Amino acid sequence: MNFEVDICIVGAGVCGLAIARQLSQLLPGTSIALIEQADSVGQGTSSRNSEVIHAGLYYAPDSLKARFCIAGRDLLYEYCRQYQVPVRQIGKLIVAQSGEEEALNRIAENARASGVVNLQSLNASQIASREPLVRADAGLWSPSTGIIDSHEFMGSLLGQAQANGLMLALATRLGDVRPRDSGKGLELELISNWHRVSAETSQVSCRLMVNCAGLGALAIAERLHQSGFASNQALPSIKWVKGNYFTYQGRSPFSHLIYPVPDPTGNGLGIHATLDMAGSCRFGPDVEQLAPYINSEERLDLSVNASRRELFAEQIRRYFPALDESRLVPDYAGIRTRITGSGFQDFQLVEQKTEDCAAIHLLGIESPGLTASLALAKHLAERVSQLELFN
Ligand SMILES: Cc1cc2nc3c(=O)[nH]c(=O)nc-3n(C[C@H](O)[C@H](O)[C@H](O)COP(=O)(O)OP(=O)(O)OC[C@H]3O[C@@H](n4cnc5c(N)ncnc54)[C@H](O)[C@@H]3O)c2cc1C
Repeated sequence: MNFEVDICIVGAGVCGLAIARQLSQLLPGTSIALIEQADSVGQGTSSRNSEVIHAGLYYAPDSLKARFCIAGRDLLYEYCRQYQVPVRQIGKLIVAQSGEEEALNRIAENARASGVVNLQSLNASQIASREPLVRADAGLWSPSTGIIDSHEFMGSLLGQAQANGLMLALATRLGDVRPRDSGKGLELELISNWHRVSAETSQVSCRLMVNCAGLGALAIAERLHQSGFASNQALPSIKWVKGNYFTYQGRSPFSHLIYPVPDPTGNGLGIHATLDMAGSCRFGPDVEQLAPYINSEERLDLSVNASRRELFAEQIRRYFPALDESRLVPDYAGIRTRITGSGFQDFQLVEQKTEDCAAIHLLGIESPGLTASLALAKHLAERVSQLELFN
C-alpha cells in the first residue's frame, strides 16, 4: 500500500507526542502521521525515567539543554494546571558532605548563569529541619523542582493532537527512509505489525520527517545520511548508558527529592532519592556502561542489575545513614542515549533538507528530555515554519 502525508513523526515518546501536538496546532491544514513501533505510546525511555521536572541547574548556560529545560519546566507546570495532569512541585535538596562545598557552589553559580535565581543555600540544621533523616553539612534548596505523572501527560498530548487530526499508527516500525526517485519528498518504508506473522510493508511519502525515535534515532538518521541527502552537520556518535532504579519498600523516609552532589566525572547526578505521585520512594538511576555490542533495541536488557544493590547502599548511606538495605528492591531500568565526546554534551537537532522536503533528527535526548519536551516542540515548530514547506 502506498500513501502520502505532509509530515511523518517517527516515535511516540514524550518528544514525538509534544511535537505532534505542537505541529497539529500550528499547521491545521496539513496531514500528520505519528509512527510508533510499540503497541502503545510512551513505552520507551519516556516510561523509564524519574518523572522529575528539573529546574535547570546543571547544564551549560545557554545550551539547548539549559534553555529547553528552563522554558520547558515553566510550560510543563502551566500545561499540568491547564489540563489537570497530576503534578507536585515538591522541591529538591542537593546535599553536600564536608569537602564537597566547592561542588555545591559551582552548581549554584551555574544555575545563576543559566537564569535560575531561586536557589537557597542551607546549613546542616536547616537541612535537618526539612529532612530529619538526611545527614549533610551544606545544601541547596531548589523550589522549582517537581514530579509529574508522565503517562497522564503523554496521554493528554496524544488526545489533543488527535483532536487536531493526527493519525497514529501503532505497532508500525520505520524500516528504510530515502529521498524519492522523483526527487520530491521522502519515501518511508513502514512495517505494520512488524513483530507478528501478519507483518505488512507499505510505502509512505512525506515532505517532512521528524525523527524522535529515541534509542533508534541515530540509526534512522544514518540511513538517510547514507542515501546522500544533504545535512547541516555530521552525525554524532552515541552510546547507550543504563540507569537502574531500586525502590525503597515501605513508607518513604523523605518528603522532598534528595540529590547528592553530582558525580565529579560528569557521568550522572549521583544516586538520588525521588518520589512518585503516590509518595513512594525509589533510588537511582545509577550509571552502568553497556557493552559496545549492545547496539540494537532487540539486544537491550532492561532488567535491573540487582548486583548493584551494594553500590547503591554505599552511596545512599553517605546522606542517609539510617538506610535499611533490605528494603532496597530492584525496580526498573532506563537507557540514556548519550552523545559521546569530552565535557558537556548538548541535545542535537540535525537537519537534512532540500528545497522541497526536510528531515529533522532529535539526537542525544537524554535527561532533561521530559522536562524540556514542550519547549523543544515549540522550538521545532518555529523551525518548521522557517522551512516554508507548507505555505
Ligand atoms: C534513567 C533515566 C532517567 C531520566 N529521568 C528524567 C527526569 O527525571 N526528568 C527528565 O526531564 N528527563 C529524564 N530522563 C530523560 C527522558 O526520559 C528522555 O529524554 C525522554 O523520555 C526522551 O523521549 P523521546 O520521545 O525522545 O524518546 P522515547 O521515549 O524513547 O521514544 C522514542 C520512541 O520511538 C520509538 N521508535 C524507535 N525506533 C522506531 C522505529 N524505527 N519506528 C517506529 N518507532 C520507533 C520507540 O518505540 C519509542 O516509543 C531520563 C532518562 C533516563 C534514561
